[in-house]
Formats: sequence, structure tokens, C-alpha cells
Amino acid sequence: MEQFDAVIIGAGAAGLFCAAQAGQAGLRVLLLDNGKKPGRKILMSGGGRCNFTNLYVEPAAYLSANPHFCKSALARYTQWDFIDLVGKYGIAWHEKTLGQLFCDDSAQQIVDMLVAECEKGNVTLRLRSEVLSIERDEQGYLLALNGDSVRTPKLVIASGGLSMPGLGASPFGYKVAEQFGLKVLPTRAGLVPFTLHKPLLASLQVLSGVSVPSVVSAQDGTVFRENVLFTHRGLSGPAILQISSYWQPGEKVTINLLPDCDLNAFIDEQRNAHPNQSLKNTLAMQLPKRLIEILQQMGQIPDCTLKQLNVRQQEALIELLTAWQVQPNGTEGYRTAEVTLGGVDTHALSSRTMEARDVPGLYFIGEVVDVTGWLGGYNFQWAWASAWACAQALSE
Ligand code: FAD
Repeated sequence: MEQFDAVIIGAGAAGLFCAAQAGQAGLRVLLLDNGKKPGRKILMSGGGRCNFTNLYVEPAAYLSANPHFCKSALARYTQWDFIDLVGKYGIAWHEKTLGQLFCDDSAQQIVDMLVAECEKGNVTLRLRSEVLSIERDEQGYLLALNGDSVRTPKLVIASGGLSMPGLGASPFGYKVAEQFGLKVLPTRAGLVPFTLHKPLLASLQVLSGVSVPSVVSAQDGTVFRENVLFTHRGLSGPAILQISSYWQPGEKVTINLLPDCDLNAFIDEQRNAHPNQSLKNTLAMQLPKRLIEILQQMGQIPDCTLKQLNVRQQEALIELLTAWQVQPNGTEGYRTAEVTLGGVDTHALSSRTMEARDVPGLYFIGEVVDVTGWLGGYNFQWAWASAWACAQALSE
């Protein structure tokens, strides 16, 4: 039976990086994945250009039942470390917005870099590999695979979350955690579009493709300032994806569609200058015309001139456009979610090594752990940082 110093399950962002680091430290590493190729999510990420990190990574950008857990790993392997590595491979990148770094060319470059790093560390990569069972005894872990069995004293679970089942996502990591007595916190889709109730959706569907720079707030007070995109299923765009991670079923979100305009002053000014101008044309100076027309058809915006608009109507209009209360019907779920919230409870893990406190030799890294970042490269940085922390511990 083959013996390895470490076996890592999941050749995604975290697994590839951890395997490379541990291999380069001299360990004999086996990296397993059930898919046909490594790093499938990386290839899909950032619209094919991989938003591989963020200039402004900080623990506050991560959701977890234990907000302190991510601090140690993020401080020890930073965005600058990963940027250095990307630089060594000559991969050109640019900042798109809000510190988000993307490859100029293609996400494939990041996968190629990680695979090259694994090769440098003589990592054995086995694809299309299913783990049928895991047993633990005094010598470590015995894994039954489709084909053969392997032994290792150190087992790393890097099998990711539940989002995008089409890309190989599975509950495997949670099941392993439960097998060894670790708590798994309830999971739900994060960074995911909202669906809307039928009557509202029927009215707004025609706006599909319209995007509005907005400030969106969740009921817990979390606020994001980015674009809201109307879709044929509901609402999306970066502001909605961000707030979805802070939203609970049944809650409302508040959308300010005019965060940079003092709407009251604007209407007063326009009324003084052009009293007979229609309200619709006035608002179309600030917002997409189609949006105004639909809100008017829905009876939310009066069909009148500025001089006909009374004080009560003006107040209601300002409330509608700057504090629009929307109650989503739900989310599009794991099918389109970028991440999975919840997962392996960090209270059971060491924040320095990612090892389960009560199960020596068992480690959890990346998205399977209850640490979820904002949109914008934060999730990959968590994958790199948690993988790095684990690899250091494997080779200690
Ligand atoms: P994954 O990368 O998901 O890797 C897990 C691996 O484990 C997979 O290869 C899977 O095949 C394998 N696996 C699962 N179950 C088993 C099993 N039973 N046996 C063997 N192998 C198994 N984050 C960013 O920071 N920037 C972005 O631009 C970005 N874009 C994204 C775009 C999309 C469409 C999606 C879905 C996500 C995006 N994310 C992005 C999130 C990011 O991809 C994840 O947070 C990150 O990939 C998590 O890394 P991981 O290694 O923990 O898991």
C-alpha cells in the first residue's frame, strides 16, 4: 500500500496551493480530486480572468461565527505574498475596482502557476479519484480510493463548499468533519442573486440588463455601495451579491438608487427652473429612463409635471428612490452562488495550523471552513492563506 507524508483531498485553490507548499518543503504529497482537471472554479472565476486577491484584505471582510479565526492566517500569508508569486510567473494583472486584482489575460495562468508549483514540489496529482472511505488508527489515516488504498499520518480536507455543483462541489468535507466528531454550522448560499415574488418580478423583468449604482443595506446594518443589476429572475450585480451574504430569509433589503444626489434639492431646483417639465423626464436625468417608466406603470411614480407634484408625493418619491424596501423571495441558491456560508466550525480548529484540535493529523482549509469573504478576491485570499498556514504545520 502506498504511503504519503500528507494526502490533500480537493485540487481547487486551497488544495493546490497547500500541496505545492508542503511538497516544496520536502513532504511526499498526494493531491486527489474527483474532477477531470484541477482548479475548475479558478478557471471560471472573475469572468475567466480570476480575481485572485484584493489589495484591501482585512478580517472585517470575512463572515464567520468566529470572526477572529481568520486573522492569524491572513496576517501570515498576505495579498502581497500572493502578488509576489504571481509576479515571479510573469502574470500581468490589473486592479479593476475596489482593490480587486484580475489577470490581464486568463485565469488559466493562475491554474498553470499552481500546477507548476506542485510540480516543483513533486506532488502526485490524481484526478477522477473518489475517496470511498476514511479510517483512522494509531498510524494515521487509511483511505480507500477507487482503485487502491493509501496511508498517511496527515490528511487535509480542501474539498470546498456546495456552490456550483456543476463544477464538482460536494458535501464531502462536511461529512468527513462529522465522521470525526467536528461540528458543521448550517450552510447557505452566499454571493448569490435574489429572486423576487411574482407580482414584483413580473413588473421588473423588462428591466433585465439595467444596472444602477446604488447603496444597499441589510437589516443588520451592513451596507455596500456598488451596482444593482435587474435580471429576468430578480436582482443581481455586485451590491446584491455582497448583501446576499448578510441577508436572512424573510428580511428586507433597502436600496438607495440615488446615493450621490440630494433628490429633494434637485426636484426643487428643477421645479423653479422648469415648472411644466414632466416628473418622468426630470427623474430620467438621474436614473435610467426605462426604470422610471416601469415605476410609473407600477403606480409608484406619479404621472405629472413638477408644479403638480405635491409635498406628500415628493416625500413618497424620495422614500421610494432612496430607501426602496425590497423583500426578496429567496436566492438563486447553490446553482449560481459564488460561495457557501457556514461549514466546519472554526472553534474545533487551530487558527495557526487549521488542524482539528481533537483529531491529530486532520486539517480543513479553504471554503469548507466557516470563513466566507466578500466578493472581490477575498475568497481566494482565504484559500491561499489557510492553505499556507496548514502547509507550514504539515512540514513542522
Ligand atoms: P474549490 O476551489 O471549490 O476546490 C474544491 C475541490 O475539491 C474541487 O476541485 C472539487 O472538484 C474537489 N472535490 C469536491 N468534493 C470532492 C470529493 N468528494 N473528492 C475529491 N475531490 C472533491 N473567489 C474569489 O476570490 N475571486 C473570484 O474571482 C471568484 N470568482 C468565482 C466565480 C465563480 C463562478 C464561483 C463559483 C466562485 C468564485 N469565487 C471567487 C469563489 C472561489 O472560487 C472559492 O472561494 C474558492 O475556489 C474556494 O477554494 P477551495 O479550494 O476551498 O474550493
